[in-house]
Amino acid sequence: MAKQTIRDFDASGLRVLVRVDFNVPQTKDGKVSDDRRIRAALPTLNYLLDHGAALILVSHLGRPTGDPTTDAYFTLDLVAARLQELIGRSVIKVNDTVGDEAKSACSSLVPGGIVVLENVRFNKGEKKGDPAFAAQLAGLADAYVNDAFGTCHRDEASMVAVPEKFPAGRRAIGFLVEKELQILDTLLKNPKSPMVAVMGGAKVSDKIGVIENLLPKIDHLLVGGAMTYTFLKAQGHGTGKSRVEADKLDVAKHLLDLAGQKLVLPVDHLVAESLDVGAKTMVVEGSDIPEGWLGLDIGPKTAVLYGNIIKAAGTVIWNGPMGKFEDEPYRQGTIKIAEAMASSPAVTVVGGGETAEAVEEFGFADKMSHVSTGGGAFLESLEGKSFNSLKVIPDR
Ligand code: ADP
Ligand code: MG
Repeated sequence: MAKQTIRDFDASGLRVLVRVDFNVPQTKDGKVSDDRRIRAALPTLNYLLDHGAALILVSHLGRPTGDPTTDAYFTLDLVAARLQELIGRSVIKVNDTVGDEAKSACSSLVPGGIVVLENVRFNKGEKKGDPAFAAQLAGLADAYVNDAFGTCHRDEASMVAVPEKFPAGRRAIGFLVEKELQILDTLLKNPKSPMVAVMGGAKVSDKIGVIENLLPKIDHLLVGGAMTYTFLKAQGHGTGKSRVEADKLDVAKHLLDLAGQKLVLPVDHLVAESLDVGAKTMVVEGSDIPEGWLGLDIGPKTAVLYGNIIKAAGTVIWNGPMGKFEDEPYRQGTIKIAEAMASSPAVTVVGGGETAEAVEEFGFADKMSHVSTGGGAFLESLEGKSFNSLKVIPDR
């Protein structure tokens, strides 16, 4: 069911609390290294401003622990500065979330004004979903908008208890959340066939729910990344020193049985003698990794095989890098999959923290139908889960 969006209420003259996900990576020397999530919120922010609203922006950043020295790194100062550059209007950053400075800045807001509150996770009440904290936060604004897709799987105060404080007619989702939900809905309910899922990344255990939920809907599941070796081990093959989840072999067997012919494993592997820079590497064909070696990427034949399946697909959904792409020698598999998706006529959707990062870094983001801003939220959606943060937003 479609959710109420910012098109459904008149924001004119209202102070709108927009929960955004500005949880962006930043460098130690004070730069936002990837501003994709900030840019992704701009359509919503501009729409509200153009319709006469003032904005109170709420986000978390990182995982503050309560230690003031280390937490200083997680201030939203840099994010607010970057937003100001991107949006081309003045942005007031305050140094607390619900204290006097925040109250005073929010109460003097006029239409067109923008306040960025301090990292919402600096407040213990956020993670706990504390109703008293939620009331303080909600008290700053007249309406609530959720445009934080990357946080929708969390039940934190600013995602659930805060919107509950507003009348139903003053709660909505923003354009980013709307777009992510529409794409996921099409993927899960009405995909163009053949439907191909490409799954890789670190662990099978992170992806069991996704694989189980997707299997009935897909024609091919192309496996890469470290999870390959847990599957190979479960089939009785040699895996050398590759990363294997020894306690998940039963699960891997179960998934292999369930998937049958749909599940495709690599036919060759790029292996190395160690994880050290400059370690000796080679390509091995077949399904056995030699003793003393570890698999760090899919091999070239696998890249061609997977590429051909991707190019013949109607829909491709990709989560999980094909190898240890952070290191230069082991990124070809991931690049080849991205290339194949970019040149495929299929609807192509990419999601997951590292996968989106890789696609962005290697320059393919604009060539995909959609790159999700959600890591955990994207995966949990693919598992078929529904979110409390969206239940509290009325249907249209
Ligand atoms: P996502 O965040 O996109 O869901 P994951 O978190 O599941 O992806 O996995 C990403 C990580 O998996 C990357 O850091 C990558 O280095 C690692 N990885 C992929 N293949 C291998 C491999 N063969 N050996 C070790 N690590 C791997
Ligand atoms: Mg990850």
